[in-house]
Amino acid sequence: MPVLGTQERPLRVAIVGSGPSGFYTADAILRQNIITKVDLFDKLPVPFGLVRHGVAPDHQKIKNVIKIFEKIAVNPQFSYFGNVTVGKNIGVFELNKYYDAVVFAYGAETDRHLGVRGEDLAGSCTATEFVGWYNGHPDFQDRHFDLSGEVAVIVGNGNVAMDVARILCKTPEELKNTDITQNALDVLAESKIKEVHLFGRRGPVQASFTSPELREMGELSSCYPVVDPKDLQLNESSLKELQDTANAWHKKNYEIMKSYLSIDPQGRKRKFVMHFFRSPVEIMGKGRVQKARFEINALTGDPNKQKVRGTGKFEEIDCGIFFRSVGYSGTRIQGLPFSTEAGIVPNQLGRVVDSEQIFTGWYVAGWIKRGAVGIIGSNKPDAEETVRSLMEDIGHLNPCEIPSSEELLKLLRSREAMVVTFDDWKKIDAAEIQRGVQLGKPREKFARITGMLSAIFNRIHPEKKY
Ligand SMILES: Cc1cc2nc3c(=O)[nH]c(=O)nc-3n(C[C@H](O)[C@H](O)[C@H](O)COP(=O)(O)OP(=O)(O)OC[C@H]3O[C@@H](n4cnc5c(N)ncnc54)[C@H](O)[C@@H]3O)c2cc1C
Repeated sequence: MPVLGTQERPLRVAIVGSGPSGFYTADAILRQNIITKVDLFDKLPVPFGLVRHGVAPDHQKIKNVIKIFEKIAVNPQFSYFGNVTVGKNIGVFELNKYYDAVVFAYGAETDRHLGVRGEDLAGSCTATEFVGWYNGHPDFQDRHFDLSGEVAVIVGNGNVAMDVARILCKTPEELKNTDITQNALDVLAESKIKEVHLFGRRGPVQASFTSPELREMGELSSCYPVVDPKDLQLNESSLKELQDTANAWHKKNYEIMKSYLSIDPQGRKRKFVMHFFRSPVEIMGKGRVQKARFEINALTGDPNKQKVRGTGKFEEIDCGIFFRSVGYSGTRIQGLPFSTEAGIVPNQLGRVVDSEQIFTGWYVAGWIKRGAVGIIGSNKPDAEETVRSLMEDIGHLNPCEIPSSEELLKLLRSREAMVVTFDDWKKIDAAEIQRGVQLGKPREKFARITGMLSAIFNRIHPEKKY
């Protein structure tokens, strides 16, 4: 049996997913003191996962992390194979023929449901699709968001909900120099929305958005924040939570919200209204969203363990569009164990398991490993933990039958997959930046796969929409 990780037989690892966890995993493997070959797959031609398609377009600085990923990508032991969907163009068991180990880092692409009546009405949307749409994710370009009503409701108290609110509240002027797609900018420019209402089922102290995002809502050019002073009256447990040094940013949030009580609208036309202690119970309307009904909650229990209890009192709000933003969930790839309940691939320290059985040679990293929590940086230690497990197992891995990326590429080409390399991506990147120059934006993304591929093969038609 060959010794893996040597000059004669480098350790061959496939990583599925080119978001932060995929790149951090690649980096951690390539830093090992052994000889490795790492091939990173993504279903899209373009890399970087949610850094490209999730992070808000008006938060460009956060995308600087891409520079770190680009440094990883120039390692000669690294290859990028974009436009390859694992589970479709190639199966998980097939990957085992070409790689000694596979790390699944394919994120959490779907959204959680509220489980309330009316959720499927026209005009009831998910943050996932809205974010994907304005960020140019090809899967969401045919979605239509009707912004002709005056009131938008968002359910959720995390940073994604805040992103959605901010994009709805900003003026086209505030967004025009970002990498939001031109199509989204044009639709938002026609928006008639005057009020954006954000609802959380718990209180202001328990909300999970972070202070910079909250503070930004008070600094918008044409929108001002509103909080009901009654929502800021805290019970004893919440007051104790505020004293806890571990909750420092919740305290900061609370202070920012208190400052919003005396904010001067100064002619700003839109308002952003925060509601706490409200759970959605029904979305109503004839054929499309017209109203949302909420139950008023109370919190009970010890500090940091408070439970939400419905009070049996309800209120309704008229609205033209309703967004839910209550968390992301992973999806199943055929052949891979999956926990529907947790929305992750079950694992122990990154080793894929099913009913306690460990799948030798299969690993997970990132959101599909631990659930959709944490910022970009959280995926680095997480990936390192997975790679530690992989390195501990190296002596027990089954060496693959066909240790050749060329052979794998031949197979993919025989299936008519147009595999995109990192050099190809750089051509897409250059074309997007070029398109952006004309519009005064950092880039104008290709939001369709045909557009991305045209940029590689120089077949861009000046009149066509990509
Ligand atoms: C809307 C939003 C905004 C965010 N904003 C911030 C922020 O401002 N700052 C911050 O620090 N964090 C932010 N985050 C969190 C951050 O994006 C995540 O922590 C991080 O992206 C998770 O990394 P990941 O690699 O696990 O998943 P992802 O980034 O989702 O990457 C998964 C990759 O897998 C690919 N893939 C999926 N299925 C397959 C398949 N079958 N075959 C091949 N490839 C596949 C996808 O195309 C994708 O490229 C945000 C998250 C969201 C949802």
